[in-house]
Amino acid sequence: MLKQIEISGFKSFAKKTTLSFDTPITAIVGPNGSGKSNVVESIRFVLGEQSMKSLRGKGGSDLIWKGSKLLPAGSKARVAITFDNADRKFAFSSSAGASADLSFDEIMLAREVTATGSDYYINGTGVRLKDINELLGSVNIGASGHHIISQGEADRLLTASSKDRRGMIEDALGLKVYQIRIRDSERKLEKTTANLKEVQALRRELAPHLSFLGKQVEKIQKTEELRKEFGELFNQYAALESGSIVFANGQLDAEEKKIRTELASIPEMQASERDSKHDQSRNNAFAELRSAEEYQSKLSHEREDLSRAIGRIEGKLDALSVVHETKSVTSVPAESVQSICTDIISAIDSAAASDSLSDVRSTLSSMRHKVSAFTESLSGQQEEFVDQSQVRKGIEEERSALEARLTEIDTAIVSARGAVAAVREKLSVIERNLREEERNAYAGAARRATLEGMVRECALRRENIERRKFVFAEAMREAQALLGTVIISRKEDAPQADTPESSAEREALYRRVERIKIKLEDAGAASGSEVIKEFEDTKTRDEFLAKEIVDIDESMASLRELIHELRDTIERSFKEGIEKINEQFSEFFKLMFGGGNAFLSIIVEHRRPKDEEEESEEGESLPFEHGIEINVSLPHKKVRDLQMLSGGERSLISIALLFAMSQVNPPPFLVLDETDAALDEANSRKYGDMLSHLSKHSKLIVVTHNRETMSRAQVLYGVTMGIEGASKLLSIKFDEAVQIAK
Ligand code: ATP
Ligand code: MG
Repeated sequence: MLKQIEISGFKSFAKKTTLSFDTPITAIVGPNGSGKSNVVESIRFVLGEQSMKSLRGKGGSDLIWKGSKLLPAGSKARVAITFDNADRKFAFSSSAGASADLSFDEIMLAREVTATGSDYYINGTGVRLKDINELLGSVNIGASGHHIISQGEADRLLTASSKDRRGMIEDALGLKVYQIRIRDSERKLEKTTANLKEVQALRRELAPHLSFLGKQVEKIQKTEELRKEFGELFNQYAALESGSIVFANGQLDAEEKKIRTELASIPEMQASERDSKHDQSRNNAFAELRSAEEYQSKLSHEREDLSRAIGRIEGKLDALSVVHETKSVTSVPAESVQSICTDIISAIDSAAASDSLSDVRSTLSSMRHKVSAFTESLSGQQEEFVDQSQVRKGIEEERSALEARLTEIDTAIVSARGAVAAVREKLSVIERNLREEERNAYAGAARRATLEGMVRECALRRENIERRKFVFAEAMREAQALLGTVIISRKEDAPQADTPESSAEREALYRRVERIKIKLEDAGAASGSEVIKEFEDTKTRDEFLAKEIVDIDESMASLRELIHELRDTIERSFKEGIEKINEQFSEFFKLMFGGGNAFLSIIVEHRRPKDEEEESEEGESLPFEHGIEINVSLPHKKVRDLQMLSGGERSLISIALLFAMSQVNPPPFLVLDETDAALDEANSRKYGDMLSHLSKHSKLIVVTHNRETMSRAQVLYGVTMGIEGASKLLSIKFDEAVQIAK
């Protein structure tokens, strides 16, 4: 409910002036030009009037106190209107801009105008005009201002176009709030449609990239599976291969060690060394043998000499015994005999060699001489006689000495023979040893050769193992490159002896591993995780967009539904409202004119669609272009054309309609500026009756010069123009009012 209005610096109200509206009907009275209509305009102004024309100005500055001789001009016009909000009727119809807290017992709207523009406030908080409109819409105070009838506009409802009239009636029926909601929803719908198009475009843009990434990811996943298979197979292969290598290596080590140990145990002696060693001992033995044999033969010679000496001695003894028996024994020296014999032999040899007989004869003659000479020498020799026994004894002593010596030598010979035999035996042992050793050496050399062959074989085998190790390490490196660094992490494999089956299995595994490896290498080491991440991101984004589209579709559908519902509501409420208004209108009309009839009818004005799209999409809104026509039939008069009615009649019909509208949906207040001006006394009374009737539901502020109207008001404000040229307000009694009004 309207409580009060505060005007300062607005038009003729130079100073702050407050009007309270505590009673149902407040009348504002005063002489012409005192500023009554300015009060009405201040109300229009604060409620957001945009038409300068209806504020009787050209620009904002016309609204500001222009100053007088006594009072300087103002720089700002301000009007504040206060409503009671104990029942919390005020609300924002739309959520947009619902920043102001409306849970106040009072709502004060204020509008200020300066040279630069207008500012709006709700309870002191700066707001936009839109907020003011929404707020007022929620309490049936529409922007059309149908409830404020300015001076000279008593027949406003009649003069308005059928479309404007419809607007005023919608306002009066409180349908503006739905209109606002529809407009808001339509705006939202528009935005949402644009948004949808944007999102759809984004999604369309994304689609090829997503499908490309999808294919990539599929490829990566396949590769990943292949990689997994490769990893498993490779691990199997690696376990077999590595185990086999470890085993082969261990086996080879053991075998080679054995071979080398055996090889080390075979003494290695050079044949020459061996030979020289043996030659030495053999030579020593031979030398020993030679000296033993020499010694033996020396003893033999000595024995022979001794035997001969003994023989000679025995001969001597024999000769001694013969001399003794014959007692003539001539002793001739052997040398002499030998010499003569030698000469004879040589003479014979030379004679035999000679062919000449004379030579033989001379030789024979010389031989005769020589022999004769020798014989003569013998016969000339003096016999010597020696004591026979003395000689024998000496000889026999000599013989026994020689025989003793012989016995010694025989003993020595026996031992010398033993020594020789011993040395021979030693030599034969040496020879035997030598042969044995040689045999051994040959056997050793043969074994060594065999063993060396085995060592070489071991080396080959090791080489083979090393090659396998290299190949394995290479395979391992490649696998690691393909699988990433730490995918293969194996412990030392247990040694594993090869069997034909395990070898075959290993071979088969290796071939499979190689095949997969080629495929993997062909697939290339794509940075899979990045692509997958991008795919996931893109997919998430696409899903988000898809969901967004669904959401937008949903919200669009619900917006359309809302709009549809709102339109239905408006349509229904409007028709119902018109019916109700018609009831009241007819009644007021009859009351005013004492008969006849009046009613509103809805006429369809075909709106020309702005473009094709609008027609198809918003075809539904076309019926809203309906207008309202007023149909009257005055009692006893045939004239139906409103244009042809008198001023008073027009005012009466207009007032009847306004009151009917206000009756159906009472506005918080009605402002009527000399609406009664054209009425005669009788009609003024009827007008006054209707005011009293209406004031039950709405506050009425009437500007009037009419005595009858004044009499209906509980409070009268007198507006006068002081010497300062500014309006002044005073609360007055009815009689004073009548006085002032005059
Ligand atoms: P009537 O009974 O004839 O309708 P009224 O009381 O309604 O008279 P208004 O129309 O309210 O009179 O007041 C008009 C007066 O206000 C004029 O005299 C005009 O000079 C004065 N006025 C209008 N605008 C301004 C302004 N900006 N500054 C000063 N005075 C102004
Ligand atoms: Mg006036």
